[in-house]
Amino acid sequence: MKRVLITGAAGFLGSHLCDRFIDEGFHVIGMDNLITGDLKNIEHLFKLPQFEFYHHDVTKFVHVAGELDYILHFASPASPIDYLKIPIQTLKVGALGTHNLLGLAKEKGARILIASTSEIYGDPLVHPQTEEYYGNVNTIGPRGVYDEAKRFQESITMAYHRFHGLDTRIVRIFNTYGPRMRLNDGRVIPAFMGQALRGEDLTVFGDGSQTRSFCYVDDEIEGIYRLLMSDYTMPVNIGNPHEITIRDFAEEIIKLTGTDQKIVYKPLPKDDPMQRQPDITKAKEILGWEPKVGREEGMRKTFDYFKTLSKEELEKTEH
Ligand code: NAD
Ligand code: UDP
Repeated sequence: MKRVLITGAAGFLGSHLCDRFIDEGFHVIGMDNLITGDLKNIEHLFKLPQFEFYHHDVTKFVHVAGELDYILHFASPASPIDYLKIPIQTLKVGALGTHNLLGLAKEKGARILIASTSEIYGDPLVHPQTEEYYGNVNTIGPRGVYDEAKRFQESITMAYHRFHGLDTRIVRIFNTYGPRMRLNDGRVIPAFMGQALRGEDLTVFGDGSQTRSFCYVDDEIEGIYRLLMSDYTMPVNIGNPHEITIRDFAEEIIKLTGTDQKIVYKPLPKDDPMQRQPDITKAKEILGWEPKVGREEGMRKTFDYFKTLSKEELEKTEH
């Protein structure tokens, strides 16, 4: 049985990755310090003999007993309100955490895939974003702690690849959504859906003309899995290229949820990127991957998930 270590296992993407690797017949070791994750996301796996969980902070020395074939490093706060609240931990998990996991991969002879992000492109001046674009990041702005941690993560990963011959993969993930997102994580989809469910107005930041391109989680996981199993060692964008303005998106959510609430406008957070859309030519050509789930279907599934949450969970909001 092949063995895989997944960091950030109790989080949104990490928990879906655990499910996928269990389904593929792997022995899965999940690791998480639960700073932004929730054991509820993986509690269904605890009864399985092929699943183990280590409650551990990856910025501290990482030790795993036995062999490892693959490592997927997904531990990191990922939503703006999380990484603004815990900026030093965000920098540390991207820098020290990645260093520890690259060291572990070297010791075990494992292939390692690291979770990078569209945020490495910052507020992009090239549109749509290709992997060749170097980005436009404000190093000292509030979002810099996340963006620069991820840029360092890519650099140290390529250095281990070139200097130590480590077998590495880098996925640049664009906004992904679906069940198990945290309702109060401040990202736009849980924010709007939570507001609709609580009967509050939807808060659009700025004039809502900024764009994003949202990828359903099942598509994202498929792209990540294919990249890990491919021979390609340079970064690959995985995201859904269907771009929408945040204002139009709020209108879509109002229709989907049937809420009577209206849109209210709040100030745009500093350094909030004005546009974002992945160029997925590489993913198509190299991995034969493209997203299959349209926004309407994906949003419906996500809203169905949020509707199952308890009243207490619904009230636990940052807004
Ligand atoms: P999440 O917050 O749901 O999950 C992150 C997990 O990492 C949490 O369970 C958290 O407790 C854990 N973690 C954080 N610091 C840790 C540490 N020091 N040691 C151990 N565990 C730690 O976020 P997510 O949306 O699932 O994102 C997962 C990864 O994907 C992150 O690396 C993020 O940067 C990347 N990513 C996500 C998106 C997206 O749209 N969801 C987009 C781009 C990149
Ligand atoms: N946003 C918004 N209202 C909210 C939360 C977010 O208008 O209640 C906007 C935010 O300013 C950004 C977009 O939605 O322009 C996506 O935000 P998110 O935090 O989901 O992702 P990111 O900015 O990291 O792409």
